[in-house]
Amino acid sequence: MSGLRLKECKELTERLPVQEAALPTRVVLPLQQSLGCPNDPIVNVGDEVAEGQKIADTQKTVAAPLHAPISGRIIAIDNLPNACQYPVASLVIEAIPGRESQGLVGSHWQVDEFTPEQIRKVVREAGIVGLGGATFPTHVKLSPSKPIDTVIINGCECEPYITADHRLMLERPAELLEGARAIARAVGAENIIVAVENNKQDAVQVLLDHNKNHNLKIVVLPSIYPQGGEKVLIRKLLGREVPSGGLPLDIGVIVNNVGTAVAIADALKTGRPLIKRVVTITGSGVKKPRNLLARIGTSFAELLAQCGGITDDAAKIIMGGPMTGLAVASLDMPVVKGTNCLLVLNQRDARDYEEKGCIRCGRCVRACPVGLLPNFLADFAKLRDYEKLVDYHLADCIECGCCAYVCPSRIYLVQYFKGAKQELKTRRAVCR
Ligand code: SF4
Ligand code: SF4
Repeated sequence: MSGLRLKECKELTERLPVQEAALPTRVVLPLQQSLGCPNDPIVNVGDEVAEGQKIADTQKTVAAPLHAPISGRIIAIDNLPNACQYPVASLVIEAIPGRESQGLVGSHWQVDEFTPEQIRKVVREAGIVGLGGATFPTHVKLSPSKPIDTVIINGCECEPYITADHRLMLERPAELLEGARAIARAVGAENIIVAVENNKQDAVQVLLDHNKNHNLKIVVLPSIYPQGGEKVLIRKLLGREVPSGGLPLDIGVIVNNVGTAVAIADALKTGRPLIKRVVTITGSGVKKPRNLLARIGTSFAELLAQCGGITDDAAKIIMGGPMTGLAVASLDMPVVKGTNCLLVLNQRDARDYEEKGCIRCGRCVRACPVGLLPNFLADFAKLRDYEKLVDYHLADCIECGCCAYVCPSRIYLVQYFKGAKQELKTRRAVCR
């Protein structure tokens, strides 16, 4: 259970500052961009909307509202294909020529002026979700039902290629540390730990310099995958185990990504909702890899065009990193709140392998960072034995891909687990 040392492939973008992407003329916004429940539109086709205006919301607790990333007109509310080509309820906004978005101008409050209740309210109204990819609504995380003693800010970014968090730590350390303090204030935690891997020494130094005003604990960890998984990180930093089927709050901890901390500071200080995020656009199939601050809803095609386009031998597009990302079928897909990376691989890097039979070598078991039996889980998933999948703790799988990475038979283990989890979720589907 020690993790994997992967080829990092971060050199393509780790030294490239984040640049604001060109304003899109059209954005496509799936109504559900967080774990939990979908939003309902609160605008109609034909309405004019202003940048930052709330356009979709719900009374359900586990959800986060959606805001207009650009000023424009609602031209459609319809079911449109998502990254997996499933139709999902979406809003489309088209910019009105001559009425471009001006950028939001907000007040400048101090984080310390907010009570815990006010912090939760601002975070909810800003539509903030976990920006490391998990997309859990942050205001729910900031409303723990149990006492919390420690807040961990996750700056590990252990997955190859992705450098969005690395750049944020380098470029926005003040907001990151302020956001961390706001999180701790909201949940009443005394300890704040910012965890960074040792392949980002420049970020460590910048955080240490800024921390003189804050006195948080900055911990440098060796670079190992999947250290950024919250269960793995908590064990490494605090020696505590999240119980099977449980949550970090069960052991007095909450974990937030560095991007989430920055978004919280932005919302508190300026009233700015979450309408942009940093996306790393990289890989052997991109002509000029970059880190872009992109409006939510911008199409992958538009972002790639700002990176010189794709190479002639580009073969695979992945939303996210190579270990946990999702292959996408179309460049029309939009950036959503959870999109931290757009990875395009050329034919050589994207080659597929033929799946062979399990040889019971046990490598997947040794590689699993949460102590599962991936070979058995795959068998149960193939047999659709959902009782056994529950008994063998499929729910604890963090979908890190370590098992599939080491499997000599090239078994697509994670795909089996994702499919089985989806089926279990459908069977139990309950929205609060
Ligand atoms: S994907 Fe799941 S089963 Fe496989 S190594 Fe990661 S946690 Fe373990
Ligand atoms: S690593 Fe692959 S071949 Fe080996 S036991 Fe696991 S699933 Fe089977």
